[in-house]
Amino acid sequence: MAIERTLSIIKPDATRRNITGKINMRFEEAGLRVVAQRRIRLTRPQAEAFYAVHAERSFFNDLCAFMISGPVVVQVLEGENAVQKNRDIMGATNPANAKPGSIRRDFGESIEANSVHGSDSAETAATEIAYFFGEIDIVG
Ligand code: ADP
Ligand code: MG
Repeated sequence: MAIERTLSIIKPDATRRNITGKINMRFEEAGLRVVAQRRIRLTRPQAEAFYAVHAERSFFNDLCAFMISGPVVVQVLEGENAVQKNRDIMGATNPANAKPGSIRRDFGESIEANSVHGSDSAETAATEIAYFFGEIDIVG
């Protein structure tokens, strides 16, 4: 299986509770490596551009407000089948529906404040990684 990279974001509900290390441990225990990482405060235009695909959804404004409500940790995860593996580790969007042992089930507060973002395809991953990181920032 191919070594892939995916974009992960530890969301404001998780930085607020100081559980970024606990979440990173989930990635590392599953064999994913954090090969780039930066703690930032997103601006409203940055959040809106990042989630542009959801611009027409009813939750878009609330989602953007949530994503700028505190710091986030943007990161690149690398490993075998990283995109799908990270989706599996994260669990379903709604923590109530996520498998026991997944990040969202164990840490998520609500369907919105669900602790982590992960790219949903290799193509999306390339775009999302480039949104936050240059190749020089990523050290595998
Ligand atoms: P995922 O993050 O699992 O890929 P989506 O891409 O569908 O899920 O949605 C992006 C983010 O928008 C979710 O992670 C969550 O924070 C928020 N969200 C999704 N659906 C809802 C909803 N019905 N109500 C509120 N927020 C939502
Ligand atoms: Mg998504």
